Amino acid sequence: MEKILNYINGQLVEPASGKYIENINPSIGSVYSLIPDSDASDVQKAVQSAQASFPLWSAIPLEKRASILNTIANLIDRDLDKLALAESVDQGKPLKLARAVDIPRASANMRFYATASMHMSSESHLMEGEAINYTTRTPIGVAGCISPWNLPLYLFTWKIAPALAAGCTVVAKPSELTPMTAFLFSKLCIEAGLPAGVLNIVHGLGNKVGQAIVEHPNVSAISFTGGTVTGKTIAATAAPMFKKLSLELGGKNPNIIFADCDFEQAVSTSINSSFSNQGEICLCGSRILVEQSLFDKFVGEFVKRTKELTVGDPLEESTRMGALVSEPHMNKVLSYIELAKKEGGQILCGGKRITISGRCANGYFVEPTVIVGLDQQCRTNQEEIFGPVVTIMPFDSEEEVISFANSSAYGLSATVWTENLKRAHRVAHQIKSGIIWINCWLLRDLRTPFGGMKQSGVGREGGWEALKFFTETKNVCVKL
Ligand code: NAD
Repeated sequence: MEKILNYINGQLVEPASGKYIENINPSIGSVYSLIPDSDASDVQKAVQSAQASFPLWSAIPLEKRASILNTIANLIDRDLDKLALAESVDQGKPLKLARAVDIPRASANMRFYATASMHMSSESHLMEGEAINYTTRTPIGVAGCISPWNLPLYLFTWKIAPALAAGCTVVAKPSELTPMTAFLFSKLCIEAGLPAGVLNIVHGLGNKVGQAIVEHPNVSAISFTGGTVTGKTIAATAAPMFKKLSLELGGKNPNIIFADCDFEQAVSTSINSSFSNQGEICLCGSRILVEQSLFDKFVGEFVKRTKELTVGDPLEESTRMGALVSEPHMNKVLSYIELAKKEGGQILCGGKRITISGRCANGYFVEPTVIVGLDQQCRTNQEEIFGPVVTIMPFDSEEEVISFANSSAYGLSATVWTENLKRAHRVAHQIKSGIIWINCWLLRDLRTPFGGMKQSGVGREGGWEALKFFTETKNVCVKL
């Protein structure tokens, strides 16, 4: 069985413990590879090698740094089919989606930050006749990058690329549920000539490897994407050590549909924003709020199209929804459907595990599920389910829907559907979320700030924000 290896000091190495964790293919429900069960001693080696390579990497000419990152991007493109297959097998997502979205975005992340680093400039502030200030931004040192399982290589590179581009060296940990593309990525880094120790990837469990990265005194900044509960633990560990923290956490995003929307666009995009990647995207609009006069028409059409979605073998071209990432996660999603029933919800379609015939008979598939009749405050509408489950609720007025949208402890993203431009701006302004999409969803410009308010996180990724995060700022004031 294939063994995944750690990538430390430029070498692919076994974990110090010699132990491995089983890696399950969620669409067939069986073990297909082994993941290093690393511990603090592996993290220690990774941090040491990152520290040792920092003087070289932080001082390397920008053009050279950018050229290596661009080479990695080119190698990702070269291996598109192989990486997409690996992502689909590891995560359960349709191969088609991995090929169209996940892997192209991973190379785009590398290329975007390779180029961006060449455009970073310092600021200067003149105090007329008195002094001149200049502000430098230097790489912060060793950065810890910890990523989740839903968009594995996409989110892994979204952190690593700006950290490396800023001149930091990195100790990174992908999710133990989806480590395969990070392993393949480490081989591409070697092929691209990334100097040894600049990027180190330590595989294993969050509470062992992740925790050891966060606790390590020589890791100066932590960039984390994952659940809000884990984010709290990380913040509690890192804050007393005065580490820089970027936390991208969960969401319970409202999808607001006014009666004057472009109905066809609103329905078809809402199907995507509800069920893409099996609903396992932090930006999915899991609470659909529809203006009362459009409610019945919208629900009827939405349910009809949800029933048409093909759930099945992720490797088949016709599959729209694959398997959920793991059996425990599937059970969590199913338990929320049961909770919704207890809370008075009516299941209009879906609601059950599906058994697919053939090779995927033991996979973790759940029907796309639409629920109505729930109160805004119930747990189903307040807690992140992170699966193919949406609720639809009516609203009467703009004021009411804004209060519904803001009733969540989360504040990651929101979508608004209306043809009334003034209203679109008004509503966008009042929703307490870091990302608002008007008449679209998941339309991403990598230059824009990305992140959430409230319990959806601290700080922003994307564009300059991420490059700045991985640097330390110094102001020098020179008296004239
Ligand atoms: P998770 O919090 O369980 O795990 C995320 C990562 O943290 C994994 O690599 C895990 O091993 C590691 N980890 C776990 N415990 C740790 C600890 N004590 N110290 C350090 N690292 C630790 O999250 P998940 O289940 O992998 O991902 C799903 C969650 O991620 C959802 O809540 C989703 O909304 C969120 N997410 C957010 C964004 C965003 O950009 N805001 C994007 C994708 C996913």
